[in-house]
Parts: sequence; structure tokens; C-alpha cells
Amino acid sequence: MKIDILTLFPEMFRPVTEESILGRAAEKGILDIRLTDIRDFSNDKHNKADDYPFGGGGGMVMMADPIFGALEHVDAKAKKIIYMSPRGKILDEEKIRELAEMESFVILCGHYEGVDQRVLDYWDVEEISIGDYVLTGGELPAMVLIDSVARLIPGVLGNEDSALNESVYSGLLEHPQYTQPREYRGMDVPEVLTSGNHQKIALWKLEKSLELTKERRPDLYAEFVSHRNDRNEDGTKKYGKAERQVIDRVEAGQGKD
Ligand code: SAM
Repeated sequence: MKIDILTLFPEMFRPVTEESILGRAAEKGILDIRLTDIRDFSNDKHNKADDYPFGGGGGMVMMADPIFGALEHVDAKAKKIIYMSPRGKILDEEKIRELAEMESFVILCGHYEGVDQRVLDYWDVEEISIGDYVLTGGELPAMVLIDSVARLIPGVLGNEDSALNESVYSGLLEHPQYTQPREYRGMDVPEVLTSGNHQKIALWKLEKSLELTKERRPDLYAEFVSHRNDRNEDGTKKYGKAERQVIDRVEAGQGKD
């Protein structure tokens, strides 16, 4: 996947894109993140890329011309363009999955009071927000988007299962996780997890996921439970008898430790 990022602050990205999982994905050639400094396309002798807003109001607005230059430079006409913006649709699992299927896209990061509206009117741009709060720039939102999309690309995570079992992706929040040591300050790891009984472990994880989701995200829980009797394409039931019993138990509020 190739992602072009257009920003006034390319250096902000390097610690994220060159380290850890994203850094390794780049080394393996799975992810190609290209940073374009919008200021390089300014025609001003001081590389100015922002100016005062017409009609007054506080702050500065990013000028259209340097952004047009940067978009043309990355051949954005042929690609999907995303503008990180608090006015956009909120990023969710569905959008992340959609983007993870793409071969390339362009992310435009705003700063100050945002970009001249003519950029958004001329180019075919999708505005995406990461939540109902305002940050100083689109750089951190772009990193959130890239990170969440990248981990769905095959080969980026060591273990592909971990992406699919994660909170929200499976339709439920994830069960609690434990690691060594088995006992820490008087707190023991639940016995079932060290039993070696894979079926029991799977059912315990399902139960804990259901309980947590029921408590914290009743919307996701109701959606999941409404599909408990669904069938697979071959006609077999999606959830086995033991799994349905766990669902029924949690539905009845009779979870067991
Ligand atoms: N004046 C703008 C408004 O009220 O909609 C806010 C501008 S904000 C201070 C500067 C830039 O940060 C935006 O252009 C956008 O790129 C980015 N940004 C801020 N909050 C964001 C959010 N929740 N999601 C995505 N991008 C955001």
C-alpha cells in the first residue's frame, strides 16, 4: 500500500512511521509512506503557506495554491484523497476496512484554522474526523488513521488473528489478557487460561467478551446477540451449541467466573 501524506510538518511523522510495526512494514515493502511538505510548493520567497482568513476571525488558513501544487505532485487526481477534518465523518471500523483494501490513497493534513475551502471544492476529497474534539493539526489524526489501517494489511502484524479478534472487529470488545507471572501481588491469572483446554479457554474468552460488551457497549452487544442463530453459507449454525449456551447465560445475567 502506498500512502502519500501532505503536511506542513513532515518531521512529526517519522517517529511513528519509522518505528515498531509500521517501520517493519515499510522495511518489508508492505507499506510505502511518502511525506510531501506542502511548503515546498509555495511560490512565496519565504515559503509562506498560510494567510489571514477573508472576513476576519482568528487564526490563519492554509492557502490553496501550495496544496494544489502538492496534490498535483503526488498525482492525486488518480487517487482517493482524504482530508483529516473535525467536520468529517467519524472514522470507524467499516471505513478502516475499506481503506485497508486500497492500493494507495492521499492524506491531506490541515493546520491552523484548516484549508482554503476551494481545495475541498475542486478536488474530490473525503473528510474524515477521528472524533468530536479539535486538535491543532491533521498530523496526529492522520497517524491514527494510518496505524489502524496498516494493521489490517496482511503481513503487517506478525499474527493476523490478533487483528481480527481485537475489540470491535469481532463485533465484541476483547476479553481480558494476562501474561507472566501467574501470580502477581496476590492476583492470580484465571485458572482456565492455564488449563491447556482450548475449548474451555475459547468459551471463557467468549463469555468475558460478552460480559464486557454488554456492560460497556450495549449497542455492539445487542447487534451481536441478534445474530446468535445465524447460519453459515453451508447451512450449519454460525455458533455451536456450547457457544450459544454461553450467550444465553450472559443474556440471562448468569455469567460464571
Ligand atoms: N477551524 C476548524 C474547524 O472548526 O472545523 C478546525 C481546524 S483544526 C484547529 C486544524 C486542523 O486539525 C484541521 O484542519 C484538521 O486537519 C485537523 N483536525 C483537528 N481536529 C480533528 C479531528 N477531530 N479529526 C481530524 N482532523 C482534525
